Amino acid sequence: MARIFDKSWQRTKLCGQFTESDAGQEVRANGWVRARRDLGGIIFIEVWDWTGPIQVVFNPEAGEIHEQAARLRNEFCVAVKGKMRIRPEGTDNPELKTGNIEIVASDFLVMSKAKPLPFEVGDATDSVDENIRLKYRYLDMRREKMQYNLRTRAKINAFTRQYLGERDFVELETPMLTKATPEGARDYLVPSRVNQGCFYALPQSPQLFKQILMISGFDRYYQIARCFRDEDLRADRQPEFTQVDIEMSYIVEDDIMNLIEGYMKGLFKLIRGVDIPTPFIRMPYWEAMDRFGSDKPDLRVKLELCDLADAFRDSGFEPFRKILEAGGVVRGLRLPGGAALSRKEIMDLEARAIKLGTSGLANFLYKEGGLKGPLVKFLKPEDLEKVKELGKMQPDDALFIVAHASRQKACEILGTLRLELGKAREDLFDNSPDNWKFLWVTKFPLFEWSAEEKRWEAMHHPFTSPSLDNETPFDEDPANASARAYDCVLNGNEVGGGSIRIHDPEVQARLFKCLGITPEDAKRRFGFFIDALSYGTPPHGGLALGVDRLVMLLCGGNSIRDVMAFPKTQKAQCLMSGAPDAVEQERLDELAIQVVADE
Ligand code: ASP
Repeated sequence: MARIFDKSWQRTKLCGQFTESDAGQEVRANGWVRARRDLGGIIFIEVWDWTGPIQVVFNPEAGEIHEQAARLRNEFCVAVKGKMRIRPEGTDNPELKTGNIEIVASDFLVMSKAKPLPFEVGDATDSVDENIRLKYRYLDMRREKMQYNLRTRAKINAFTRQYLGERDFVELETPMLTKATPEGARDYLVPSRVNQGCFYALPQSPQLFKQILMISGFDRYYQIARCFRDEDLRADRQPEFTQVDIEMSYIVEDDIMNLIEGYMKGLFKLIRGVDIPTPFIRMPYWEAMDRFGSDKPDLRVKLELCDLADAFRDSGFEPFRKILEAGGVVRGLRLPGGAALSRKEIMDLEARAIKLGTSGLANFLYKEGGLKGPLVKFLKPEDLEKVKELGKMQPDDALFIVAHASRQKACEILGTLRLELGKAREDLFDNSPDNWKFLWVTKFPLFEWSAEEKRWEAMHHPFTSPSLDNETPFDEDPANASARAYDCVLNGNEVGGGSIRIHDPEVQARLFKCLGITPEDAKRRFGFFIDALSYGTPPHGGLALGVDRLVMLLCGGNSIRDVMAFPKTQKAQCLMSGAPDAVEQERLDELAIQVVADE
């Protein structure tokens, strides 16, 4: 009679959950074969599931079973019966949870064989070409690390539902087939068969729908929402990703921040077992730029930028003076002990700065009792003193300087150097696994200038409320208008972002106007939303947390692909399923779509 998997083969425990207390018992294990070894006629295998391995021994005395065991290969899916025993003295493996026990097999069943493997399923798989891992994702995900990551992801989602549910948030789904919501990326479009020539857009975010839910009286909404953005993928972006999307009515910024701080506290306790101090630091955008050269500063790096304008305003160094006179900036980055850098290292650093977009990187080295460097001869002694003072320079330090017409650009360049120089040095960068540095970056500019389009664009999205403390109305001075927007930043990563929204249709119309969106255009694109705004909209606001990034950080990883079951490549392809793919002519005809072949 053919032997099949039935109750009599079903596991008595998960592999990793067997313990010494099972010794002497008849047990059964189900899982995949790994690490087969043949030692002096005795065959050992490990049987694995997500809880880890259990060792199985086939003794020559077992006769036929032993012979058949010799034909087992890695990743065969098997059921094993036998007696659990304590491993003979000297053969235990203290690195394994089950390292002191083993099953002496009395019988086994191969439920499925495996073809020769594209790679061995184990820790070493991390170093296998990622494209191969993605093609055989099902094998890749059998690994302990991927199992841990994805199971942690599920745990985080469960926590999210619990935390928000306990606080009266209602989980509601918004449509996937919808109209475009601008978040600054291209839309994925889906053609409609029954409305030929018309397209749905996949949501870049549920933004407009969640705001409409506020108008409908669901005053606390959330969703673990899939979002789609058709961008040229930068290293760690995915065309589809997940957000915890939140919106609340009758609130101000603090309410959202308190909610999220409580959430993070609970989450980091649950997953990492650590206490995150709250409240988080709150830092206006320009303070973050001026001090750290980034709107998502990594506060683990112990370096700060400085403003050197006062040392160069009246100085004899004309290029810098002129830049300042024209409204530009002179900013510096102090590197403790940097005076010991070689000429070559300093030149490399300058080349790096030039690549980032400045014409040069000046430097002062504090050595032999004074400042040295190419600019020293242009400066009066009192200006050199100011450089020391503003740069907080100590003996043996270096100070690197960027003079630039744009404050933003100068800060960004030095901000990049800050990270690169800081992260390279243990004394300047505490990279321990549970060093979590949260902060809120607030008061973002409302607009940013698009040089390409020659117009203002919304820095966050066009439904973000202007700040109440803008001195001039935002539409009279768009360059200096700030927004009621906030980002939640963790160790240099933006893990969430949101804003208080515009709830007054008149303000919304003025904002569209600033963005060069005509009333007709606005009506066509968001008419339904503007209409809805004029039926008694409560003041409201919200935010979205990037689930993929958050899970990645909590799992201690460095790629969001490692915390997604089926991620796509940089070319937005799924190597396992082969999507995207061409479709049959018939399907295109139904949709009235013609493909113009790309040469
Ligand atoms: N919709 C925004 C985003 O996807 C988040 C928000 O403003 O709530 O980034």
